[in-house]
Amino acid sequence: MKILNDILAAKTTTRALERQGISVGFVPTMGALHDGHISLLKVARAVGAQRVVASVYVNPTQFDRDEDLKRYPRDLDADFAKLEAAGCDAVFVPKDELMYPCGYQTEVWVPEASRGLCGAHRPGHFVGVTTIVTKLLNIIRPSFLVMGEKDFQQLMLTRLLVSDLNLDTQVVGAPVARDDDGLALSSRNVQLSDVEREQARSIYGGLQAAQRRYYEGERSAERLVVEAKAVMSVAGLEPEYLELRSSLTLAPLNSAHQPCRLLVAAYVGSTRLIDNVVIAGDERAQTA
Ligand code: AMP
Repeated sequence: MKILNDILAAKTTTRALERQGISVGFVPTMGALHDGHISLLKVARAVGAQRVVASVYVNPTQFDRDEDLKRYPRDLDADFAKLEAAGCDAVFVPKDELMYPCGYQTEVWVPEASRGLCGAHRPGHFVGVTTIVTKLLNIIRPSFLVMGEKDFQQLMLTRLLVSDLNLDTQVVGAPVARDDDGLALSSRNVQLSDVEREQARSIYGGLQAAQRRYYEGERSAERLVVEAKAVMSVAGLEPEYLELRSSLTLAPLNSAHQPCRLLVAAYVGSTRLIDNVVIAGDERAQTA
């Protein structure tokens, strides 16, 4: 696996592949890798990428709280070992001063889709995300950009960004990878104490309860939300948001009569976790 520490090396490697007509699947990450990240590499191969390039970069501009940035888990050596074992061909690991050199100004913003959900609670977060994703896409120029459905709003924003700016990549969403107890895999899970981990299980538990109500015939967004909240509340969690949204446009919905997902964010102690499940329909057919 090639380790690419600077932008020129990353461009040289990926442009050489481009010239040879070899397709690249790109998996951007913030490191502290787990099986969810590794599943994205597999998806990249499955959709036809002949080479897979990952990036490990804890992007400071997408953190709305300094404390969160400082606490964010980092383990580059373990990350390299996992990527290598997963057959990753190259990893781009830039330093802050390369991505945001002195005098850096430009931001990329997808205003409407950045409002609400995580955008409402993490000021500046999505500007940081869409800016870094644009920069990474310009550097790597992949045929496929693989991102997780766990960060569903981020995935939707990225689809819009790629389409609005006519970027030459196909955005591919990968399903949420979960631990045996159902908790969505997240780099932040290592921050949870045993008690918090137990509480965190109720996040998926609540989402599943809402799914069951949907299968029993419930279509009211309000009642599905109440169902999910009740499970989380028993575990002592009060979600930051818990909303039924269109899977196609992210618009808020009153009822589950079209493809939609239930999306949640909750603090477990001082760790903020997000998750979502499909309630109605299968939106997988869509691509950017
Ligand atoms: P992160 O390192 O948290 O910024 O995540 C990098 C990529 O991995 C994003 O596209 C995430 O959506 C994706 N990802 C993180 N956790 C999971 C998971 N449990 N299942 C699927 N994708 C994930």
